[in-house]
Amino acid sequence: MDNINQLKSLLSNPKKITILSHRNPDGDAIGSSLGLYHYLKDSGHDPKVIFPSEYPEFVAWLPAAETCLVHDNEPDLCNQAIEDSEVIFCLDFNGLDRVDPMAKYIKANPAPKVMIDHHLEPEDFAQYMMSIPAASSTCELIYEFMDLMGDASKMTSDIATSLFTGILTDTGSFRYSTRPETFRIAAQLQEAGADVYTIQNMLFNSMEEKVLQLLGHCLANRMILWPEIEAGAIYLTKEDYEKFDIQRGDTEGIVNYLLKMKKVRVAALIKEQPTIIKFSLRSKGDFSVQMVASEYFNGGGHKNASGGYMYGTVKKAIHTFRKAVELHWEKQKSSIHS
Ligand code: 5GP
Ligand code: MN
Repeated sequence: MDNINQLKSLLSNPKKITILSHRNPDGDAIGSSLGLYHYLKDSGHDPKVIFPSEYPEFVAWLPAAETCLVHDNEPDLCNQAIEDSEVIFCLDFNGLDRVDPMAKYIKANPAPKVMIDHHLEPEDFAQYMMSIPAASSTCELIYEFMDLMGDASKMTSDIATSLFTGILTDTGSFRYSTRPETFRIAAQLQEAGADVYTIQNMLFNSMEEKVLQLLGHCLANRMILWPEIEAGAIYLTKEDYEKFDIQRGDTEGIVNYLLKMKKVRVAALIKEQPTIIKFSLRSKGDFSVQMVASEYFNGGGHKNASGGYMYGTVKKAIHTFRKAVELHWEKQKSSIHS
């Protein structure tokens, strides 16, 4: 961020601040939002965290999670908070379609916007941008942001716990998307009081029985493999949603099981939702699912983890994914090393 000094002077006296993250917030969205929330609050500001939709149960224990506002539940309150903001932080997303229907209120407020994010191809709507796709997570970048602000010493255990959560979830417990800084920052967070054992337990060993049964159903009955294009998909229908009483967060991580197979390099979880079909795309190695998501599914993300959506039936969605991967093996040929 080359205009950090300007931002420092902007934040040198107390401000009303909105911290926004994306629809279907994940561990990184909520971890980075709450990490920044604690930092700004400790610095004398009046921050509010807003998500477009509800956050999953597995992060509800994070310090101050209960103070977060959800636009789907309280639209007027959220819109008003955005209107009243003197600074707006946009975390873990880089296109305003990810915070629809708040986008128009964000655009209407001339207050400075600060984007802190690690997704590919950022839109140009923020005056202050820390857009670093090499970073493991937005949580990693919040640490770097505090450092840039000259406030690394203001790290508390609440901030550290929040940030460690997003690093863990976005890297699959340090299995992918890491760089040397990720481990250095993680070490700092542990030193500052992040209880790594407890965080892992809360995130990964707190499943309900029905969620494990849903996983069994996905692997036994809902998996399709296409060995000729080294791809696979798991799909969930509206009936599955009812039968297993699937809630927000319950499908987290299911897509990764496909990549456990040596022969699968591209994977999708295809979910039939009330109006759209939602895609979670993953890959191993050079194949970019970000390119597939942006070309076929109105989406984006990272090279190895992206998402998007389309309209239509599950059958059409499965077919479109298969075709898209087949075409992209050809299209990305020059950048893929076997
Ligand atoms: P997930 O599959 O875990 O929901 O998302 C994987 C990645 O893709 C995340 O980084 C997320 O931000 C991105 N992503 C998921 N859905 C969408 C979408 O509809 N649009 C865009 N632009 N990115 C998405
Ligand atoms: Mn992220």
